[in-house]
Amino acid sequence: MTGTDTSADTLTRRPIQWRRATLRDTRMETRTARTLVFDVPGWTEHRAGQHVDVKLTAEDGYSAQRSYSIASASAPGRVELTVQAISDGEVSPYLVETMTPGDELELRGPIGGWFQWTERLTEPVLLVGGGSGIVPLMAMLRERSRADSIAPFHLVYVARTPDHVFYANELYSIGRSTSDVTIERLYTRAGLPDDHRTPGRLGPEDVPPPTVSETGSTRVYVCGPTGFVESATRLLQDRGHEPSAIRTERFGPTGG
Ligand SMILES: Cc1cc2nc3c(=O)[nH]c(=O)nc-3n(C[C@H](O)[C@H](O)[C@H](O)COP(=O)(O)OP(=O)(O)OC[C@H]3O[C@@H](n4cnc5c(N)ncnc54)[C@H](O)[C@@H]3O)c2cc1C
Repeated sequence: MTGTDTSADTLTRRPIQWRRATLRDTRMETRTARTLVFDVPGWTEHRAGQHVDVKLTAEDGYSAQRSYSIASASAPGRVELTVQAISDGEVSPYLVETMTPGDELELRGPIGGWFQWTERLTEPVLLVGGGSGIVPLMAMLRERSRADSIAPFHLVYVARTPDHVFYANELYSIGRSTSDVTIERLYTRAGLPDDHRTPGRLGPEDVPPPTVSETGSTRVYVCGPTGFVESATRLLQDRGHEPSAIRTERFGPTGG
């Protein structure tokens, strides 16, 4: 499901109101991607995997809107986004390079009723992310931890190089300290000296087959640029995952 469902909350069909959000803190994830932590009065909760629409308005009234996945686990009054700057983009360079704590923007959400994970789901989860497609998958990992879920998670995260990895320390620490969570980082252009895998696109051998546990069979979430999502979905089906078990989110251009 892509970011087109912006007029109403897909669970309740309530119109979604715009809220003022104040930037509280930022963290650089890579040279060109930044996490933005917003205080959002009135924000109650969201489900991991959902996104928001962000609206920037210039002094002359011109405004631009884009969709961004929520990176954080659910927390009242707080929303974290992670944005990759696109060099000729209208909105993302402002969010990554210019906005400073204390600045405000408008956002509305949470949006999306299909691409989401909650602690009530206990079957094994396979997360497959390409580039900034890691963002909603990170929210799912964080939500798993916040809720003390014991659902087995396996993340396959494809990035260009180690320098392009978001949340590097946190992912390392989750992978080391959490049994039942497997974190795999794959590189398309250049890897680490001791990597066994030759850098390259996601291939059949990179994608685990479905597993069946007493709580059910694997539920899959795939997120990234459209081409990545399409090829990953084909590989997953070739490996035996049922199409109905695969949920996708495409990070295509948005706005208007
Ligand atoms: C549901 C959803 C969730 C998203 N979540 C995130 C997120 O968590 N983090 C994040 O960084 N982005 C995310 N995006 C992408 C985001 O909405 C914007 O498209 C992106 O930030 C570019 O906006 P811009 O205004 O800078 O570029 P624009 O001014 O819209 O476009 C500038 C140029 O870049 C191209 N372009 C636009 N968007 C992309 C893109 N995503 N990939 C490659 N080229 C592009 C355009 O075709 C154009 O040539 C999400 C998109 C969707 C649909």
